[in-house]
Amino acid sequence: MPKKGILAVISGFSGAGKGTLVSELVKRYGYAISISATTRPPRDGETEGKEYFFKTKEEFKQMIKEGKLIEYAKYVDNYYGTPKDYVLSQINNGRDVLLEIEMQGALQVKENFSDVSLIFITPPNAEELKRRLVNRGTETADIINKRIARAVEECSYMNKYDYIVVNDNLNTCVEQMHGLLQSLHFTKNNQELLIKSISDNFRSFL
Ligand code: 5GP
Repeated sequence: MPKKGILAVISGFSGAGKGTLVSELVKRYGYAISISATTRPPRDGETEGKEYFFKTKEEFKQMIKEGKLIEYAKYVDNYYGTPKDYVLSQINNGRDVLLEIEMQGALQVKENFSDVSLIFITPPNAEELKRRLVNRGTETADIINKRIARAVEECSYMNKYDYIVVNDNLNTCVEQMHGLLQSLHFTKNNQELLIKSISDNFRSFL
């Protein structure tokens, strides 16, 4: 039976644990993740084509002009975008693709793809979010407060997402996400190929 992969967008507050969650989903269940293009300079240890495709502003603008991005957004002074070819080829080859992107980009993908599912990851409460950001030890107190303030703003967009998942315990959350992602294969939008092949089959049987 022909099978198309699903496309799911994963967003959430900074510190919600999206990165760890997505890498566990890839490790345990083999989901494909898209590698974004960005104008942000590489951090220590980041390599071209692994974490990101690093671009100059001019190169990034050219990608936009040539329609090579599914979506793009400006986030804290830099541009980030999802390359179209890779995502479409993976889906057409039956792979399930996850995009870990911020909200503006997520809403653009929703406008352009009727069969995308938007999933929002939240920690159980603000205290836990702050605890995780402090424990990560990569941000100053000032930046942590800014990220929490941004989370407060982002609360009003949560209802634009199709699914809201609480990341309290990582292992539980990975399993819940896998269950949710697999169930998406059964939505009618993701079953277009099946609907067509069953209809053709029944017609030719008459
Ligand atoms: P960072 O600079 O910390 O790697 O990423 C900053 C933010 O950009 C994160 O919220 C991340 O999810 C988001 N991001 C990464 N890639 C993309 C992308 O291709 N498109 C959009 N819209 N956001 C992205």
